[in-house]
Amino acid sequence: MQATIPIAASASQPPTLILPSPASHFSQRAQRLEQLAQGHALGDFLQFMAALARAQHAALQQLAPPGLPDAASLERARAHGMPPLAAQSLPRDAAWHSALHWMLDALAPTTNAASAALLAELRALPAERLEAMAARILDTDLSGPDARYYPLLAAALQVYWVKLVTSLPLPTYAPLDVHNICPACGCLPLGSVIGAHADVSGLRYAQCALCGTQWNVTRASCLACGAGEDRVGYHSIEGSKGPMQAESCDECHSYFKLLRRDQDASADLTADDLASLTLDMLLDDAGFARGGPNLLFVPGES
Ligand SMILES: [Zn+2]
Ligand SMILES: [Zn+2]
Repeated sequence: MQATIPIAASASQPPTLILPSPASHFSQRAQRLEQLAQGHALGDFLQFMAALARAQHAALQQLAPPGLPDAASLERARAHGMPPLAAQSLPRDAAWHSALHWMLDALAPTTNAASAALLAELRALPAERLEAMAARILDTDLSGPDARYYPLLAAALQVYWVKLVTSLPLPTYAPLDVHNICPACGCLPLGSVIGAHADVSGLRYAQCALCGTQWNVTRASCLACGAGEDRVGYHSIEGSKGPMQAESCDECHSYFKLLRRDQDASADLTADDLASLTLDMLLDDAGFARGGPNLLFVPGES
């Protein structure tokens, strides 16, 4: 289970923010991917992503405490309503390269020849090249000639950011005025979850694509532009009993995945997103553009 840590001190108030639990964040995702892979048209891909999530879990357990911003920077972020660990500007510790290399080692025995070649290429890349690609990923610019490397790099960056956000005391974080970026790292939400945790079954939380932090958002509102209930529509695959839906906006023509975890507590937003690419095709055909990045998936590069 995820740790529920309320920012508000009152027991009667729902938490405004839920941090990822280092013990289960990636292992739960791996379990769900294995479950979804059974009988799925993309079963091999989902099995590989399960192995990747297991490698992320192992790397996170090994990662040493990273360098953190000093008290003055944290106070400045708080005073200005900025995320304290802003992914686009925070200097990165080379620790994430170690996380990447551990993950490549862990994945090596499970891969086919094509993936093995990709892992070997990645292992040989110089640090500056890794940093340049990390900057693009953290800017959610997932296109370009290096895009085939991005999912594995993004997986290592996720490990590093989960470590970072869970290394600071909870009162460091405060809800932001804007609802469409992560209050911990400033990255975009992958989508949102209803029933993120057993204690908050009816509430909706946006979930960060990078660090997995979840923050409370109004139900039935567009995560991109904030348009209200009357502009929002819901879509699911006909005949599907799965917990994944898409929430589209007639105002800005974007859509985000919406996970009904209240209907299936084993579901995981990242895993269920990867297993519901048919829903993305449906929304694309209907003229909506995807609003929430899944950093582990670059279209055309699976
Ligand atoms: Zn985040
Ligand atoms: Zn909108």
